[in-house]
Amino acid sequence: MIITIDGPAGSGKSTAARKLAAKLGVAYLDTGAMYRTIAFSAIEQGVHLKDEKALVEVARKADISLDCGPTHTRVTLNGHDVSEAIRSMAVNQATSYVARIQSIRDLLVEKQREIGRRLGSLVSEGRDQGSVVFPDAELKFFVEAAIEKRAMRRYQELSADGEEASYELILENLQERDGNDRRQWAPLLEPATAIHIDTTNMSIHEVVERLLEEVQKRRTAIRRSARLRRWPNPLTHDRSPITMKFQQDCEQIRLGYRIARAACRIAFGTYFRCRILHADRVPTTGGALLAANHQSFLDPIAGGIGLWRECSYIARDTLFANPYFGRMIRYVNAFPVKRGEADITAVKELLRRLRDGKVVMIFPEGTRSHSGEISPLNPNSLEIAKRARVPIVPLLIDGTFRAFPRGKILPRPYRVHIVHGRTMTREEVAASSTEAIVESVTRRLFEAQAESREIRMRRP
Ligand code: C5P
Repeated sequence: MIITIDGPAGSGKSTAARKLAAKLGVAYLDTGAMYRTIAFSAIEQGVHLKDEKALVEVARKADISLDCGPTHTRVTLNGHDVSEAIRSMAVNQATSYVARIQSIRDLLVEKQREIGRRLGSLVSEGRDQGSVVFPDAELKFFVEAAIEKRAMRRYQELSADGEEASYELILENLQERDGNDRRQWAPLLEPATAIHIDTTNMSIHEVVERLLEEVQKRRTAIRRSARLRRWPNPLTHDRSPITMKFQQDCEQIRLGYRIARAACRIAFGTYFRCRILHADRVPTTGGALLAANHQSFLDPIAGGIGLWRECSYIARDTLFANPYFGRMIRYVNAFPVKRGEADITAVKELLRRLRDGKVVMIFPEGTRSHSGEISPLNPNSLEIAKRARVPIVPLLIDGTFRAFPRGKILPRPYRVHIVHGRTMTREEVAASSTEAIVESVTRRLFEAQAESREIRMRRP
């Protein structure tokens, strides 16, 4: 299990993370120590803190090794122990210069991910662990406390170590660091799916107990869902162990939704001989925009049955006019949009759901295809992912055009394929222009279409 703990300086997250890791018997990763060590190395070499190029060079050359134990982090830089030296006030201040350079961040983020891959389980602590480094972490915490309380804790720590300290100076330093962090991290700091803990009036013992309680809950949920999903979905084409693990990791869903989805899966599986590919490309937790091509009225159902999570939909407001049908589609997470006008309420609702960690399916082509082929995608609908800071999963639905064409009253039994394309990660979305996102999602939809057609040729 990867557990991330983010939060501002002095919130108690380091001590809590360290103790939690010790209790769980897993590794602890102090990512702040990495940034601090580069800042320390720069000061040592007399590098000017505003000289970005030189700082990047320092970071590239630094050979840092961390030994994060249950009480202290031992840090060595080029073979020398710098564990104490990196905690000085001068390093505190210099670190913010280092932390704002993107290429240094990229370097360290890659190192942190590599450690995550190697260890499999760890408690990782910093500013961007849940949002950037491990967006798919099983459990994310965001820990904070009132600034006066944080300053007092730091003051007491230093006094206990026999160091001379001034409360006012510490408070001032924390305010400055908060300001720097906020400038850099404001939108990313707290992942939508993180559990928020305010430690102002909590002892460290209480904080660790609270973290452990959440870990226990998450483990039980994973075990329960593993029991419920012992059998693979008969429609899933790819039954690799990854897919099975993926199913187990997905969040719990409501019983009514589960029953409705099972009924639709049976109908699609038998009548349309439906196949689902790469379901594991949809992240197990957190918001995601499912960008599907649109061929027929069957598509929203096809999108929903291919997922192991609940799916939200945007539906024409006229569909909500009938109270019974309206209630039914609301139950399966549909929300209304006014057609033919800029519906701000619908856009806000879409953003809210994505930020709340939901999967929302949209049809960026705008309307059902007249030819069955993929039509140009509307950039505004995909730009939403950039605003909500979520990944985009392209979804190719193949066959519903023939199974239920425009103007027909009843569907016919034509084979349907639901192919999840290569996911555009949250970082890729953030780093791309709107045109680049449209281009990339379109390309991935065509790739998925080629895969579907190849299977169709083998088994028409
Ligand atoms: O957590 P700690 O106080 O040791 O972090 C020192 C500094 O390193 C932070 O103030 C922040 O500027 C930077 N940092 C970061 N990203 C992280 C961890 C720390 O930018 N993941």
